[in-house]
Amino acid sequence: MLRIPALALLAAVLLPAQADPPKLMLPATVTPLSYEAELRLTPGVDEFDGQVRIDVEIRQATATVWLHAKELTLKRVRVGGSAATVNSAPNDFVALTVDEILQPGPTRITLDYTGKMSLVLTDGIFHQQYKGDWYTFTKFEPVTARRAFPCFDEPAFKTPWQLTVRVPSGLKAFSNTPVESETNEDDGTKSVRFARTKPLPTYLVALAVGPFDVVDAGAIGRNRSPARIIVPRGRAVEAAYAAENTPKAVQLLEEYFGMAYPYEKLDQVVVPITTSWGAMENAGLIAYGQSLLVKPNEDTITRQRARLNTMVHEIAHQWFGNLVTMQWWDDIWLNEGFASWIASKLVDQWHPEWKGRTSAVAGANSAKVSDSLVSARKVRQTIETPGDIGLAFDGITYVKGAALLRMFENWLGEDKFRKGIQAHLARHAWKSATTDDLLAALSGAAGRDVSAGFSSFLDERGVPLLTANVRCDGQRPMLELGQARFVPLGSTGSEKGRWRLPVCIRWNGGRECVELSAERQRFELKIATACPEWFYANENGAGYYRVIHQGPWPDRLMADGARLSNPEMVALLQDVQALATSGKVDAGRALAIGKHFSDSTDYDVLTAAIRIGASLSPFVPNDLLPNYARFLRSWL
Ligand SMILES: [Zn+2]
Repeated sequence: MLRIPALALLAAVLLPAQADPPKLMLPATVTPLSYEAELRLTPGVDEFDGQVRIDVEIRQATATVWLHAKELTLKRVRVGGSAATVNSAPNDFVALTVDEILQPGPTRITLDYTGKMSLVLTDGIFHQQYKGDWYTFTKFEPVTARRAFPCFDEPAFKTPWQLTVRVPSGLKAFSNTPVESETNEDDGTKSVRFARTKPLPTYLVALAVGPFDVVDAGAIGRNRSPARIIVPRGRAVEAAYAAENTPKAVQLLEEYFGMAYPYEKLDQVVVPITTSWGAMENAGLIAYGQSLLVKPNEDTITRQRARLNTMVHEIAHQWFGNLVTMQWWDDIWLNEGFASWIASKLVDQWHPEWKGRTSAVAGANSAKVSDSLVSARKVRQTIETPGDIGLAFDGITYVKGAALLRMFENWLGEDKFRKGIQAHLARHAWKSATTDDLLAALSGAAGRDVSAGFSSFLDERGVPLLTANVRCDGQRPMLELGQARFVPLGSTGSEKGRWRLPVCIRWNGGRECVELSAERQRFELKIATACPEWFYANENGAGYYRVIHQGPWPDRLMADGARLSNPEMVALLQDVQALATSGKVDAGRALAIGKHFSDSTDYDVLTAAIRIGASLSPFVPNDLLPNYARFLRSWL
């Protein structure tokens, strides 16, 4: 809680009633232009001192400036040269009130304060002891910068920051930008002043202080920016993988985005203890848990895949999230869905032998399962209370968000999709953007409206169930599609489907993409010269929907001539499992399909096949379970 000096309290009582406290967002009356902050801290000592100077723009005459602070003691507060009274309100809002009305125009707020580094949380500003050494770190996303600085703690406020820390002279200090100057003081401390940052939202500001070892990771990207891995003392040898792979990760991302790495340097720092987060994309100072490190003789491909995926995810945020930031937390899927999608895409391009495309399709099933429930959250869910912000970082945001991008990329084509992403980044660099901005850029690049279709998935919860049939009784084969909402067995939810569904089908003679915008629709397969021998209505398994093929087509998918890719087989098997357990596909038929595909040597395909057998075992009477087990063993 904010502690308020007694004199200030008295003054508050004498002032006329001020505006009601904000409920969710700061009022638009005052906006920050830049910050200068100085923190004096010693890792291992809870309390720290801070001073922040915030240049702001008063947009409407007011006597009160609202900002955020949490568990800070504000000692001396001045607004535009006058002493201000401090009042706290629920949800970390703080009112700074002055006697004279502040007229529109620029002014400066100065706050002297103390705070505490947490020993328990690994959010906000915190310190921890590792192998006898004390370290201080910050991790502010989504809303804990306010534990370190009084600030306008919302992502739309992107401003330059100039940070200085005063720390024991034997320690190293890192922040978003390179060190500009280091001055030894005569009390055994030193002042480390960092270069002014590019415009950053509060949640991307970062600090790390401690007796670190520093591993050079070379020069990265078109601008040959310096890169380093910052590790707890004694663990430099374990940073080799991260150091060796950082330059190529940056190169692949620059190629995709068509734009140089946007910051002056790239440090990646290891936080020994993290709770509830694995990595954080602070601009120029990405933080990771210990999984970034590995003893050279203990590495495995599984660990490398996970590590590289996390690195590419976090480095991708330097463009998508940091350079262009979502306006407000209801668009957090823009950050997280995008970073998850591009990490899996680029790691697959880098290491095709890891078969990441198949794993990505397999992984999307977890979102489809939770999204089938009536209680599922929308991707673009309105934030109604401050508590909703933290809840938005869930599987729907990360996994469904990534799956939707994969589906629309497949439907529009990789080139058009990439052009749209590049246009979006170029247009909003150093600023904020919304989902609508991204969809406008994709529509522009695609030469057709993408917004309505994409929005139908962002604003509608649930997984579509597509029915697909091809009839060959006319001049050309006709594709018949229908949509409903997939619901689990026993669900009372509506089965009405309301999507504009981007569907790509593939058959032995070609592929075609259509948009299903009604409940049922027919499409001519224009390029088909003959009736297909087989077709599959989820090309590359990229569709965020489940499919039931009707007519003779399910059998033909299991015929010898059918050539499904591994991602397609995974999608088909997962759909069969979901449909069988929800009573929409006969169990015997589902088992036949599982058995058919269980001769695959691909891990994800085989796993998806076996899961059909496992998921139906609860329906087998106890006395028949030994027979059932023998039947499943015969698949392998
Ligand atoms: Zn992320």
